[in-house]
Amino acid sequence: MSFCPKCGYPQVCPCPACTERRKDKKTKPWKWALDKNTIICANCGLAKAIDWWENLDMECYEKEIKESIEKEKRRQNERKG
Ligand SMILES: [Zn+2]
Ligand SMILES: [Zn+2]
Repeated sequence: MSFCPKCGYPQVCPCPACTERRKDKKTKPWKWALDKNTIICANCGLAKAIDWWENLDMECYEKEIKESIEKEKRRQNERKG
């Protein structure tokens, strides 16, 4: 876990899996900007590109994207039959 350099707030992943896994429900997860390339601190609103937050645990999110792509591919193959 990493912390916002501006306000020191802990940065936690907002995806359903991480929210479920997290025992501390009081910590507000970071927010995605509309471009899905920018992360916004839930506490102070500091908005920076993903690369800038390089210490954040992004693996989970990347895995989700890959899984949804795989799922989509499989669905298209099934349609072709
Ligand atoms: Zn997550
Ligand atoms: Zn902050």
